[in-house]
Amino acid sequence: MRPMNQQQLTDNIAKVRSRVRESAEKCQRQESDILLLAVSKTRTADDIRRAVDCGLRHFGENYLQEALDKIAQLEDLDLVWHFIGPLQSNKTRPIATHFDWVHSVDRAKIARRLNDQRPEELPPLNICLQVNVSGEDSKSGVSPAELPALVSTIAGLPRLHLRGLMAIPAPSDDIARQHANFSQLRHLLEEVRPMAADADTLSMGMSGDLEAAIAEGATIVRVGTDIFGPRR
Ligand SMILES: *Cc1c(COP(=O)(O)O)cnc(C)c1O
Repeated sequence: MRPMNQQQLTDNIAKVRSRVRESAEKCQRQESDILLLAVSKTRTADDIRRAVDCGLRHFGENYLQEALDKIAQLEDLDLVWHFIGPLQSNKTRPIATHFDWVHSVDRAKIARRLNDQRPEELPPLNICLQVNVSGEDSKSGVSPAELPALVSTIAGLPRLHLRGLMAIPAPSDDIARQHANFSQLRHLLEEVRPMAADADTLSMGMSGDLEAAIAEGATIVRVGTDIFGPRR
């Protein structure tokens, strides 16, 4: 695999950071209220080390085995690992054990398993509920109609810490469309907040649409391509 050049990576990260800063300024938000989550699926442990040298600390992974290998190789670093990929119920235990956050919880069965399997010596697992906001054909994500019931289930699980909502809207070049999907997620969070007092996270926005997401209140943007280059 072509190793990522350090200078290129440094430049890419600086560019993404300035997009985040400018988007925040435009809507009078603090840059420090927006976490840049580097999506490192398909990248090597060495790519991640270089990104850490550029100041990144939070990494998002989609594929369990690949992630576990990298987490083991990078144990010497103080990193925060986010699972953002599709969840299968037979694979929840390693996720509950090795990750700090899971963004893609979309059903009660998965939530209960993560709760039961979270090791006692670790703090509660940070959870975002993935919501299907654009009716995209992807089957993942709870529907907005079913969200309140799922929130109330999770509020009763002591080993999970419900932090907020996540969405992966269908990609669109239509800026108004991007805003509409992200604004829907923000409204859904407001709706369920009475049931989950400290749920204040909106995990939304990727390389192509982080500006719209920040304008609509994103607190975590998940960026892969514009940090590490095109995936192979
Ligand atoms: C791959 C992925 C991203 C990053 O997408 P880019 O377009 O490469 O920035 C963000 N979120 C999720 C859930 C992903 O699977």
